[in-house]
Amino acid sequence: MSAWIKHINDTLDIGDEYSLVFGKAMPSGKFFCPFHANVNTPAAKRYYNGIKCYSCNKFYTVYDFLKAFNPSRLAMLKQTVQVDEVGYGTVESAPLKERITFVSYEPTERIGDILTKILKANGLEV
Ligand SMILES: [Zn+2]
Repeated sequence: MSAWIKHINDTLDIGDEYSLVFGKAMPSGKFFCPFHANVNTPAAKRYYNGIKCYSCNKFYTVYDFLKAFNPSRLAMLKQTVQVDEVGYGTVESAPLKERITFVSYEPTERIGDILTKILKANGLEV
């Protein structure tokens, strides 16, 4: 996921975006999924900052929502919202286990000693 998409998903509220598109508040309970045609069973629900649809069996992010229902707003945001790719993207793009050297320790060791060991193993002297 690009840093810019992550930024969009982290900073915009799915409820606000839903209201902008449909002109009404996002229901707090189940509602009709905007991503698939359905008039019988409300299968979608707000889930964290996105929409979970039990019929599509998919979680839609704010970015997914804007891309489908408000592409002009997404294009405007692309023009105006700049994201620092260095501060956001590069570190996160490496899998965690490739970034951190893990250490082994005994359950009886003090937490401070374990932390010191981890910092030293990763080149961070304390
Ligand atoms: Zn759906």
